[in-house]
Amino acid sequence: LNFEQVTFIKSAAKLSQCPEDKGREVAFAGRSNAGKSSALNALTGSKKLARTSKTPGRTQLINFFALSETYRLVDLPGYGYAKVPEAVKAEWQKHLEDYLQNRDSLIGIILLMDIRHPLKEFDQIMLEWAEYYQKPVHILLTKSDKLKFGAAKQAALKIQRELKPFGNLVSLQLFSSLNKMGVDELKKQLSTWLLDEKIINV
Ligand code: GDP
Repeated sequence: LNFEQVTFIKSAAKLSQCPEDKGREVAFAGRSNAGKSSALNALTGSKKLARTSKTPGRTQLINFFALSETYRLVDLPGYGYAKVPEAVKAEWQKHLEDYLQNRDSLIGIILLMDIRHPLKEFDQIMLEWAEYYQKPVHILLTKSDKLKFGAAKQAALKIQRELKPFGNLVSLQLFSSLNKMGVDELKKQLSTWLLDEKIINV
């Protein structure tokens, strides 16, 4: 898989506007400011992808990118952005759950959390949905460069303990877009999911 070869497909406000539900895709989710755009930049080696997602009007949409005809990366709307009315938040939440519940080609979720502010309400909601709909989650503890390596390791262990109830469904790693720590590990996780021969929905 060449993660540098991503091309924008389309944006969708709801499930019915998503590309055809075939092939495989991995979705990136996180609270606003968790470092999702920076991580996508670090992964793809280009600012193009994240810039597309941050185009005004697209930040609240599900943005689809193609790695090939079969494989996609999906940038989910950053949650908790600005001071949007409760009704708007509820609407996003509905579309997001609808997507997680019904999208067969979605085979895994990358959940980004600032290592200094893990497991906030949105993260808990995502984890509960993922468990309910049986979609595996791989967590990136972002901005790990903000802590000394030992402290980052300690934080990761503590979070891992809190995630024990989810068993094998949830894994995690340290990540930093600043010094590129964890980029190769992320690529490995994405390849494992996307190329898994046990999944036969392609
Ligand atoms: P998004 O809202 O989740 O897309 O977050 P961004 O990628 O825009 O990042 C939010 C802020 O965190 C920006 O000021 C980034 O420069 C900063 N940031 C993102 N990733 C890192 C990182 O790995 N290390 C450090 N130190 N700062 C980061």
